[in-house]
Amino acid sequence: MENPESLTFGEEEHKLGIRASSTRQVFFNDMKVPVENLLGERNNGFKIALNALNVGRIKLAAACLDAQRRILNHSIQYSNERKQFGVSISTFGAIRKKLAEMATGVFVSEAGSYRAAKNVQDKIDELVAGGMDHQAAELKGVEEFAVECSILKVFVSDLAQHTADEGIQVYGGMGFSEDTPMEAAWRDSRISRIYEGTNEINRLLAVGMLIKRAMKGELDLLSPAMAISKELMGIPSFEVPDYSAFMSEEKAIIANLKKVFLMVSGAALQKYMMDIEKQQHLLLNASEILNQIYMAESAVLRAEKHFSPDSVEAAMAQLNLYKAVEKIIVAAKEGIISFAEGDEQRMMLSGLRRFTKYTNHPNVVALTEKVAAHYIEKGTY
Ligand SMILES: Cc1cc2nc3c(=O)[nH]c(=O)nc-3n(C[C@H](O)[C@H](O)[C@H](O)COP(=O)(O)OP(=O)(O)OC[C@H]3O[C@@H](n4cnc5c(N)ncnc54)[C@H](O)[C@@H]3O)c2cc1C
Repeated sequence: MENPESLTFGEEEHKLGIRASSTRQVFFNDMKVPVENLLGERNNGFKIALNALNVGRIKLAAACLDAQRRILNHSIQYSNERKQFGVSISTFGAIRKKLAEMATGVFVSEAGSYRAAKNVQDKIDELVAGGMDHQAAELKGVEEFAVECSILKVFVSDLAQHTADEGIQVYGGMGFSEDTPMEAAWRDSRISRIYEGTNEINRLLAVGMLIKRAMKGELDLLSPAMAISKELMGIPSFEVPDYSAFMSEEKAIIANLKKVFLMVSGAALQKYMMDIEKQQHLLLNASEILNQIYMAESAVLRAEKHFSPDSVEAAMAQLNLYKAVEKIIVAAKEGIISFAEGDEQRMMLSGLRRFTKYTNHPNVVALTEKVAAHYIEKGTY
């Protein structure tokens, strides 16, 4: 550095959370950097910075996942210790429901994070085996899964915030006190929805990247979307499918949820074409559908691969899928009734009902109770 005075710092910021981490602006004024100190190639910094964001997003999801696990473990322990009306509060259904939902959130966040991390690692290994140098392979490997990185960042950071909020509720008045870990957990989790690209930007990005890939011809969204329109014109099958195999109904539902995404985004894309980028309300609806599908599918595949039909993990995958379906119905319906009219609207709403239908509804209360009982007895996640 030839002129150290060209590097200056703003005042230390006073923040809502992550107070142990220093935050201040850094100014580079007319700074000259010696050639031998240049990192990477000249004029390639922006690309590296963008790719660093992809890595940052999947890493932030992992950090939020750990926060969720710690909040859950504190909450299980506290609810077993805290007595009201002569019994532990963990015997109350209202608290058990919260703990079961928090545990389910952890299981699903793990499933999505492990899945995307493995995909990225496999891609890096493949590129290195093909002769690419390791640093370039890392950038390329993560770039390939940039959509997944954005999905994870949004889903897990939203959930970490919600888990911290529920953690305070489990602690009651004590949760509001600086003497318990919940107060800091709630404040600290807030930033994760803002940095590494706000969750709004990441939601728009994930759908935008898919659309760009479709426009470039790298991903075929339109022909499956058209096949679904054709399917909707036909008469639905009234045969009762055989769902006796483990997770077969859940996998069939996920396949149908993908049709919902294609139906809504395909029709919106046909209507707005290049102007779709300006339709942020619709893109946010599409992103909610996309995020819920990716995370629900990850949980179902994880349960199917590693756990048995009567396991608590299978119960969590089923519980999450049920709730994902409900969220997808809300997001898809909002989109359909906003941009489609008349016969097209009626046809898409009927498609939405067809593609979100369960043959055998899960018993949500029984599954929730199974999850709660397991972790309350175990005392930890
Ligand atoms: C504690 C902390 C640490 C940070 N650390 C770093 C760091 O180490 N490195 C670094 O580079 N940055 C860092 N940041 C910056 C951080 O990445 C940004 O604050 C964040 O990306 C949001 O940008 P912004 O603050 O300019 O908000 P704005 O861009 O002003 O956004 C305000 C609101 O408008 C929405 N919005 C903005 N643009 C659009 C759009 N096109 N479409 C729809 N909605 C939009 C946003 O979602 C948000 O809700 C840090 C910030 C904080 C608070």
